[in-house]
Amino acid sequence: MKRVYFDHAASTPVDPRVLAAMMPFFAEQYGNPSELHELGRFARQAVDRARAEVAEALGASAKEIVFTSGGTEADNLALFGYLQRFGSGHLLISAIEHPAIQEAARALGRQGWAVDEVPVDGDGVVDPHAYERAFRGDTRLVSIMHANNVVGTVQPIAELARVAHDHGAAFHTDAVQTVGSLPFTVGDLGVDMLSLSGHKLYGPKGTGALYVKRGTRLAPLLHGGGHERRLRSGTENVPGIVGLGAAITLARAMLAETQPRLEAMRDRLATGVLARIPATRYLGHATQRLPGNAAITVRFVEGESMLLRLDAEGFMVSSGSACASGSLEPSHVIMALGLGAEEAHGSIRVTLGRENTDDDVDAFLEAFPPIVEKLRQMSPLYVRG
Ligand code: PLP
Repeated sequence: MKRVYFDHAASTPVDPRVLAAMMPFFAEQYGNPSELHELGRFARQAVDRARAEVAEALGASAKEIVFTSGGTEADNLALFGYLQRFGSGHLLISAIEHPAIQEAARALGRQGWAVDEVPVDGDGVVDPHAYERAFRGDTRLVSIMHANNVVGTVQPIAELARVAHDHGAAFHTDAVQTVGSLPFTVGDLGVDMLSLSGHKLYGPKGTGALYVKRGTRLAPLLHGGGHERRLRSGTENVPGIVGLGAAITLARAMLAETQPRLEAMRDRLATGVLARIPATRYLGHATQRLPGNAAITVRFVEGESMLLRLDAEGFMVSSGSACASGSLEPSHVIMALGLGAEEAHGSIRVTLGRENTDDDVDAFLEAFPPIVEKLRQMSPLYVRG
């Protein structure tokens, strides 16, 4: 049976060219970048090169890049690191942030920070009026994700950042889903901080970075030898950092080809499902969305049931209903869009990637309708409905 991987928002395969770039740094070029001998210098040069690559891809300068262990750490460093120098104040996030932001904000709330969540509209776009009204005299920081990992909606970050700056607040964006998928620079967005993650862009897991605009002062979360300009102590993950640099450079070079191809496949998949299966709805914004994201809610069936049946037929998708691994709670993201619990439970997220083909989409459009039909026959909701 052919297996089709449609879960690229969760993770991507390491590109063979990225893996090849990383390989020498495990067992041959294994020096510690802090050492002055030959192997240490080689490792330092590799880390410097990768930093320049990440900076180049973001339109930043190398000094503005802090390597982290992934998106979660970059998000935590942005929030805790930035707020630490203020004694108190207000943090503003959106209602649909990834748990890496939402839970970090809640932890800050428990420490005494005032935290508010700005609502989104039915398409998942931050409500501009509620956003404007949410600012207080002591709002220090705003963190709003560039694109949502569940429903794919892309936010108008440049506009949101401008409003934050007008109110004297700094602006961070979690761009884990967009770096490598959409063409932009940190200058286009006008943000002070931006998080990214390697394993979402065909790089290795456990790698990421925080862009910190020059002049933005942060306190470290990890204390030790003063690595990463004192912002993130710990011997650098040299193979991982090399992989992140190679992956981001490759993604950027491929973007002009991959973005329109993914968008065409996404639209064909979504319109195909909506045309073939009654009582289905496309989630997220019609056009302002991630190139590979097709999130769909299917009434009278459970997301997990669809996911398992699809998996049995070789299609790996994600159910939009679980917000944390193993959780059967409806996603806070889908609920924030105004859907009821029943509809929120019946959603799936198909996220396409660059190795997917039109044949994969055709095969899915053939396999999915009979699965839904069978599940609906068993659903008491459907029979009565
Ligand atoms: N932010 C968003 C929007 C994500 O989709 C993810 C990954 O699921 C993360 C943060 C966390 O990134 P990482 O897995 O690198 O910690």
